[in-house]
Amino acid sequence: MCSKLIIVPTPIGNLEDITLRALDVLKQSDLILAEDTRTSGILLKKYNITTHRQSYHTFNEHNQVDTLIKTIGEGKQVALISDAGTPGISDPGFLLIRACIAAGIQVECLPGPTALIPALINSGFPSDRFCFEGFLPLKKGRKARLESLATETRTVILYESPHRLLKTLGQLSDVLGEDRPAVVCRELTKIYEETVRGSLRELCTWFEEHPPKGEIVIVLKGKGRDEKTKQ
Ligand code: SAM
Repeated sequence: MCSKLIIVPTPIGNLEDITLRALDVLKQSDLILAEDTRTSGILLKKYNITTHRQSYHTFNEHNQVDTLIKTIGEGKQVALISDAGTPGISDPGFLLIRACIAAGIQVECLPGPTALIPALINSGFPSDRFCFEGFLPLKKGRKARLESLATETRTVILYESPHRLLKTLGQLSDVLGEDRPAVVCRELTKIYEETVRGSLRELCTWFEEHPPKGEIVIVLKGKGRDEKTKQ
């Protein structure tokens, strides 16, 4: 009887970015909840992990929580993974974690890959204080969210898709000012990894000329944190 939910971060590209402990937990758990069982299948096959899998994603998580609480409560160790990175970071996880805590079930999160930390550190912007904004709202609340970033003094990290990058950089430039230093990290840990640095204006020009592909993190220097800033 171990009744536990373990959150297991998985690679964001390079399949070797997984801890030995994560592999052990995945092997020893009674069940792996995976966002997309086919995507995770590639990783699990590489490491000969044959633990039973069940899909757990944005479209079924509400319906699954009660059953999963019962399963874990009956003495099962359940591991939660997402397609990439840390579950709960712009990925399903929060609902189940909250329900486990409410039910008195032990929750453990292993440290491991997530896209926001390498992007923050690659940016070279102050990392003593930062805020993670995930994806900006697509429509409702987008303007207000953008405006709230204009006065943010901490380094800001945003997730974005390649086909919305230019629009978002343009809007950030309009609201935060075209001279605001920013960095775009693309395809972290993958073959075509790229970090582009410049003002928001320069990044708009670059990506107009070089249409982006792949996965993207935008990092913005906080307002007023000029080069003299001490960390
Ligand atoms: N749970 C993940 C994490 O811990 O980072 C985030 C999942 S979210 C659905 C996917 C977004 O994360 C992508 O659109 C992109 O913004 C960012 N992302 C994930 N992998 C990335 C990578 N290898 N390079 C750059 N950004 C990445």
